[in-house]
This record gives sequence, C-alpha cells and structure tokens, in this order.
Amino acid sequence: MTNSKYPFGTKSEATAICRCGQVEITLATETPVLAGFCHCEDCRRAHAAPIYHYVYGSSANICAKTGQFRKGSFELMIMRGFDQLIDAKRDPKEAMFSSFNKNPVVGGIGRLFCKDCGVMMLNAFFMRANTGINPTSKVIEMYGLFTGTFTEKMSSFIESWQPQFHIWCSQATLPLSIFDDGIDKWATWPGGKKWIG
Ligand SMILES: [Zn+2]
Ligand SMILES: [Zn+2]
Repeated sequence: MTNSKYPFGTKSEATAICRCGQVEITLATETPVLAGFCHCEDCRRAHAAPIYHYVYGSSANICAKTGQFRKGSFELMIMRGFDQLIDAKRDPKEAMFSSFNKNPVVGGIGRLFCKDCGVMMLNAFFMRANTGINPTSKVIEMYGLFTGTFTEKMSSFIESWQPQFHIWCSQATLPLSIFDDGIDKWATWPGGKKWIG
C-alpha cells in the first residue's frame, strides 16, 4: 500500500446508481473486505469491460447465499430497487464459474443486474474458509459495488477504499505493463503467485 499512487480523500460511504435510476445501493465502511481490480475472463465479460474495479463490504441487506432481503442496518444497503435485481446467468459448461457452488474459493448468488437497464450493480459472494484469500476457518461474506456506478470520484474516498492490487492478471486482455500504479499484481488470487510481465 505504501507505494500506491492512488490519491485518497476522507469519505467512507459511496452511492451507486444504475443507468435507469431505479436501483440505488450504498456502501459505508472504514475497512473494505477487498478493493482492487480484477482482470479475469468472467468479470470482464460480465461487465463488458477490459477491467473490473470493485470495493467490497462485509455485510448487506441481501443474503449472499439465498438472495433474500434482510431487515436491519448493514455496510451495504440496497436503498431502492431490490426487486429490480436479477442474478446473471452463466455458461453451464464453464467449470469455475458456471455455478459458484463449484468454485473452490468463492460461493454465493453472484452477480446481480438491473432488469430494466442491464447495469451490473452488485456482487453477493462469500469466501470459503481455509483458502488463499481467506486463511481463517470462518466463511467471510462479501458484497461488492463497482466504482463505475459511483456518484463521486474515487479520490474522494479514504485510503483503504483505493485499489490494493490487480488480480487474475494471467487472464488480462490489457497489457499489465500500462498500470504503473505501485500496487501488487497477482497471477490469480491475492497471496498466490506474483504476475511477471
Ligand atoms: Zn436500472
Ligand atoms: Zn474476476
């Protein structure tokens, strides 16, 4: 983090809005579970973007396992448009991501988009216990927003919200050498092999 070139500010709460405006989601946390970039094929295709930029909180008013609404106050809150959100289908032949039940590292309902405007708005996952990204013995829930849907610039947010790493560099379509941003580049998940090239 010390070599990161990303400027930061003082805010620790963001608002994400879809293109048609029916879905609004907020995230408020001082300590995101993950903040960074993913270059994997699944994220690139899901977002129709060469790079996927996310900030994840650890709790939400939707359950990562069932997709059901939860009453109460959480880091991530679907403020409007809960019923607009649809779980994006995946290729049933794709081994890692056809069902998150088969993925050895992450599980959950996955990627949710606004049914009217098609904007990908939320990832609802959990990290399995005793894995490279979660060495603890407890399952860790994680709920991600995508910075492209934020209403404010990334430099408004505190240091822990700034990108910590690039992951899945082994599946990138962009040349990683263009990112001279001072943060770690991992071949796959954080904590695995560093990406060279
Ligand atoms: Zn929408
Ligand atoms: Zn990815």
